[in-house]
This record gives sequence, C-alpha cells and structure tokens, in this order.
Amino acid sequence: MKNRLQDRIALVTGASSGIGEATALALAEQGAKVAIAARRRDRLEQLAATLAGLGAEPQVLVADLASEVEAQRIVKETEAHYGHLDILINNAGVMYLEPVAEADLGRWRRMLELNVLSLIASTQAALAGMRARRDGHIVNVSSVAGRVANPNAAAYAATKFGVVGFSESLRREVYKDNIRVSVIEPGMVDTELREHIGHEASRRAVNARAGEMRQLQAEDIADTILFCVTRPDYVCINEVLMRPTDQE
Ligand code: NDP
Repeated sequence: MKNRLQDRIALVTGASSGIGEATALALAEQGAKVAIAARRRDRLEQLAATLAGLGAEPQVLVADLASEVEAQRIVKETEAHYGHLDILINNAGVMYLEPVAEADLGRWRRMLELNVLSLIASTQAALAGMRARRDGHIVNVSSVAGRVANPNAAAYAATKFGVVGFSESLRREVYKDNIRVSVIEPGMVDTELREHIGHEASRRAVNARAGEMRQLQAEDIADTILFCVTRPDYVCINEVLMRPTDQE
C-alpha cells in the first residue's frame, strides 16, 4: 500500500545515518514530507537529494542536539516551514559504554543531554501545536538497554530507561488530546552507533558480541516505526521491544 502518510509532516532527529536515515526514507516512501536533523550537513544533504526525488520536500536542519535550545529550535523551524508538525521521531542518540569506575563523566553528561534532555525538549516544543490541532504522534527510540541493564552500560541504560519512563508518563498526559506516544526498544542493530564508543575495551567487547549474531538492520526498525505511525488514529502502539533472533 502506498501513500499512507500523504500530506503528513514528520521530523526525524539523527537522520544522517542508521535508524534515522532509514526511517526518513520509509516515511517519505509513504508520502510524508520530512524534515531531517543531525550535525553532519553533508550526510543530511545527500539524504535530502534522495528524499526530494520521492517528493518529500525535505528540510535540512543542521543542529547539535546535545543543546536543548537546538532541540526546540528544530521543532519550531519545522512548524514554520511546513505550517505544522504531525510526527516527531526522537531518534538521535549516542551509546558511550564504559564501566562506572572508569567513566568519563563529561562524555556521560553529553550522552544524558542528547539521549534524554534533548528528547524532552523537542517533545515539549512539539506539544503546543499538536494539542491545538488535536493530532500528533511522538515516537521515541529507546533500546533493549531501556528494559535490561547490562554491566558496562550503566549510564546508557539510565538514558534509555529514562526514555521509557518519560514516554509512558507523557502518553498518559496527552492521550486525551489525541496525541499518540510510542517507544521503540531495539536490540543490536548494524549501524555506526558502536564506532563512537571512546572506551576501547568496551567497544571491542560489544563489537565481538555483535559479530556473533545476525543483527537487526536499520530498515527493520524503520519498518516498525512506519507500522506504528500508519495505524488508524484510535490505535496507539505504546511500546515495541525487538531483538535479533540470535540475541539473548
Ligand atoms: P547512528 O550512529 O547511525 O545514528 C545516530 C544519529 O544520531 C546520527 O544521525 C547522528 O548524527 C545523530 N547524533 C549523534 N549525536 C548528535 C548530536 N549531538 N546532535 C545531533 N544529532 C546527533 O546509530 P543508530 O542509528 O543505531 O542510533 C539511533 C538511535 O537508536 C539511538 O538513539 C540509539 O541509542 C538507538 N539504538 C540503537 C541500537 C543499535 O544497536 N544500533 C540499539 C538500540 C537503540 P550526527 O553524527 O550527524 O550528528
């Protein structure tokens, strides 16, 4: 089925690679107009060229979302550009794995700011418009690490458990305004995420684990997000936990 998102306006954060990029494409293929945000302008512009070919009239938003001011700005600029925002995909995130005793707190602070605070700020910025129109869908990308806390992942788990808790609390605040909230909790996905782990032993360990399994692909998560946002508006998929078959 085509054009299930005809005339819907979406904003995808962290769209310059991985899950965000695949999600922006999946939404565009269904007729949505899509704003894309991240730091790497070249990657966003490359994606925008493809999205334009699909008729998605992309808006490129270069932003460092570790800043909550920037997280609010991209929502306001999307609304200003298209007139409103229907679907907010809060996907931008980093995963800095390291043991608590050795952790670089500056790095962890940046992860908390991006994975949690920024997601809260963009959500808050989107609510007024969605409430006024009694229409909106917020999809937050958490992780299996938001449901199961592993050693070496304490602060990452804190951010992703945080996203799960925030999402459920938010859902209960806004459901009466016809605003839907979905949280997605993927297991191991084959993306660039692990490349940015600064603690070398942790990076090696998680890459070794990934090498032992058939990982999820970014498109698998994009398909799931697409499923959530194409349900009739009386259906709200609250939470999706999905692992590779090979992951414990
Ligand atoms: P990628 O590293 O491919 O994507 C991360 C995205 O976030 C990129 O577009 C990156 O863009 C953006 N980003 C990172 N830092 C910032 C910043 N400061 N400001 C703005 N954008 C930023 O990894 P994934 O696609 O895997 O990650 C997407 C989400 O999925 C994350 O929230 C992650 O925690 C979650 N996830 C991933 C899993 C996996 O195994 N891969 C499993 C479970 C959840 P740029 O660098 O251009 O700014």
